[in-house]
Amino acid sequence: MNSEIELAGLEKATVIKRDNHSISRKQISPNALKVLYRLSSAGFHAYIVGGGVRDLLLGTKPKDFDVATNASPEEIRKLFKNARIIGRRFKIVHIRFGREIIEVTTFRANHDPKNQIADDISRRQIKGLDSAHSKAGMILRDNVYGNIDEDAFRRDFTVNALYYTTRNFLLLDFCGGLDDIQNKEIRMIGDPIARYKEDPVRMLRAIRFSAKLGFEIEENTKRPIDELSYLLDSISSARLFDETLKLMTGGFAQRTFELLSQYQLGSYLFAPTIDAIEQGDSVSAKLVFLALSNTDSRIAAEKSVTPAFLFSALLWPVLKLKLAQSKNLDLAPQQAFEQAAQSALTKQLDYTAIPKRFTVACREIWDLQGRLQRRNKRSIESTFKHPRFRAAYDFLLLREQAGEELDGLGQWWTDFQNGDQKKRKELSGAVPRAKNLRRRRHKRKQTGDSE
Ligand code: ATP
Ligand code: MG
Repeated sequence: MNSEIELAGLEKATVIKRDNHSISRKQISPNALKVLYRLSSAGFHAYIVGGGVRDLLLGTKPKDFDVATNASPEEIRKLFKNARIIGRRFKIVHIRFGREIIEVTTFRANHDPKNQIADDISRRQIKGLDSAHSKAGMILRDNVYGNIDEDAFRRDFTVNALYYTTRNFLLLDFCGGLDDIQNKEIRMIGDPIARYKEDPVRMLRAIRFSAKLGFEIEENTKRPIDELSYLLDSISSARLFDETLKLMTGGFAQRTFELLSQYQLGSYLFAPTIDAIEQGDSVSAKLVFLALSNTDSRIAAEKSVTPAFLFSALLWPVLKLKLAQSKNLDLAPQQAFEQAAQSALTKQLDYTAIPKRFTVACREIWDLQGRLQRRNKRSIESTFKHPRFRAAYDFLLLREQAGEELDGLGQWWTDFQNGDQKKRKELSGAVPRAKNLRRRRHKRKQTGDSE
């Protein structure tokens, strides 16, 4: 207990003793415990903080465990050979144990935004600074270290600012997070407007946690969101891609997308999709809905989900709209399709980055839709063996489920996969000839029918 008192700021916490809270060491990842113990035996203080504590208190399995400590990033790195310091705006240490990464952060302190206004200094100067804000109040560097109580107040929401220590198994609450867990509320710590200006991504985080936890966003935390959504414009598209992935792969994508669309925030991440759904048919809306709820089910079943599949689905309504708009341009179907695909991706890149490997895979899933449909005799086998076949087939089923009329194409491919050689030959023989298909498509184009 004495060693606890040594840590400055601790006296400000409401302390909940072992018998009065539900967290036990057994629920914490052994790797996170290893990190706590090693920091502790080196004389530092270390806590589990954030989602790990919050989710355990709610009786759900945490996605990961974050650690906060009074050791500096360099001191942490020296203690772990598998550690890497990452980030410039916000330095953290990643400690890798196989597939698991424990994120360790040094306690942060508040720093006065008036001290360093980045617009008045050059970018090169920021590089060497621990603290920097833009004129609009956005934090550009957040590497001023402090005490645990200050660290708590620098966090985003009260429910994310609870600390658990294996020394005496205490739970610490500095900001009223326990009450908010009880009341099921997402409440910003401090003045919500100022805190959103410091980091506009916190608006997305409010939505993400509200969808994930089924919590209401507290009134003052909710009110400024629409008015301040435009601040997302100042966030790099790379960070927005990272956040988008968290929003879409957190297990509650469908509800998250719905919430984002209710706020202005949606149009800062998914404007092309939201516009296309509004202008398009009910099939488009249903396809996105199904893709997101399938993603949620896969995550619940601990199956992998690929960002490429997600973007293929989110941007399919955009592609279809483009395709419809290019009808009068008298392009060959293949060319029209390629242009529409490219344009859908390019539009999205105005909002979020998408790493090249995912745009490439996304194009493959789309391109394979044509091959799955044509079932050209000579290329059926190679289509089937294509590394992206499974994703493309799943996507085809999704299109049918959403209500696209594809003449039983999904069933054909299901039968093909399940069939033996003889069955496959039989199925291949029954495909309408590609030549006829092409002629028919051409005719449709002339009459302006949709495909
Ligand atoms: P989960 O990991 O379940 O998505 P989390 O709450 O652990 O949720 P992380 O992104 O892992 O979220 O961040 C860990 C903790 O760091 C948060 O709980 C919060 O205390 C703090 N944090 C993260 N991002 C911010 C931010 N933008 N502003 C303030 N605090 C933040
Ligand atoms: Mg976390």
